Amino acid sequence: MSEKREIILSGIRPTGRLHYGNYFGAIKTFVDLQEQGKSCYYFIADYHALTTLTEREDFFRQTLDMLRTYVACGLDPAKSVIYRQSDLPCTAELTLLLGMVTNIGHLERGTTYKDKMSKLTDRRDGTEGNPLSYGLLGYPVLMAADILIVKADIVPVGDDQRQHVEMAMDIAQKFNHRFGETLKVPAPVARNALRLPGLDGAAKMGKSEHNTLDLLDDPKTVLKKIKGVQTSTDPAPLSVESNEPDMVIPEMAPSLGTLYRLLHLLAPEDVYLDFMGKYRRQEKFYGLLKTTLAEYVSKFNEPIIERYNDPANNDEFVMDFLRENARKVTPVALETVEACRQAMGIGHSLHRA
Ligand code: ATP
Ligand code: MG
Repeated sequence: MSEKREIILSGIRPTGRLHYGNYFGAIKTFVDLQEQGKSCYYFIADYHALTTLTEREDFFRQTLDMLRTYVACGLDPAKSVIYRQSDLPCTAELTLLLGMVTNIGHLERGTTYKDKMSKLTDRRDGTEGNPLSYGLLGYPVLMAADILIVKADIVPVGDDQRQHVEMAMDIAQKFNHRFGETLKVPAPVARNALRLPGLDGAAKMGKSEHNTLDLLDDPKTVLKKIKGVQTSTDPAPLSVESNEPDMVIPEMAPSLGTLYRLLHLLAPEDVYLDFMGKYRRQEKFYGLLKTTLAEYVSKFNEPIIERYNDPANNDEFVMDFLRENARKVTPVALETVEACRQAMGIGHSLHRA
């Protein structure tokens, strides 16, 4: 009998262009797992994007562009099931069912929710006229449905999503405890998951934070963004808890720490160590650090930009595989939803029978 393949699930919101945090926190692992022959489900989380909606945005356009970037990064729709969250509407039904075993207090203690709450008074972040929604509070339940619906074993995400995966594990356990073993409980997020800080030194680089270095940035933009990073000596300690030892010097200014982290990800070890030495010796080196890093970044981006612009990687290609892959994931997902309906006592859907 052949051994069961591990099931992988992860998604990205179509809220902007893919950045270095997305790449090293998620996409790189997506590609590695795909090449290891695992059973991979990767989706574009367009329902999730709606939780930060301020005015109408063209999420469909952004979804297509993000999928072209997925392909440019090495994701292959013939090897991985790559789909759009809203093409699997039974996820919404599972969210409703899971909501019945989800504790509101637990959701209110979620860090993303608490973070948005604290920003409500800060009108600059676009929350004006857009108070906290039921959708935002329920975000972790929808994410639990995404994960549980395909029976995922592993959820490769960045460290910022650790708590959401723990909530999904908790929801699945509660469901199973109450209604009998129905849902597969996924593994927690890997201990070495990355959280890349922003170019502004904020704890997280994020599409909605406007502090990103993007995979599609051209050399001019890369240089401009990196040159604009604050490197003046700032006594504030690095605000990021790192899982990776010796990546940055603890007392380093946060935005300088981001440059070092990027250098560590992209440059050979000797180049990185050389710049570490310069910092320790307090040499004048910020200009050189920035131009050197900008070169590594542009060299990294070049083939991705090329594949993104490949005429074969067009909207029609993306729409075709979206259609095909939605057909592949639907039966898997419906099986889970039907099992939950049955377990809870409402029985199978009659119109799907
Ligand atoms: P948004 O600001 O709209 O939430 P985002 O940049 O946080 O966008 P997501 O779509 O929420 O990106 O997350 C996609 C994936 O990228 C997730 O697996 C997430 O953990 C990972 N990720 C996002 N930002 C970082 C980061 N700074 N470091 C490491 N991983 C990250
Ligand atoms: Mg995010």
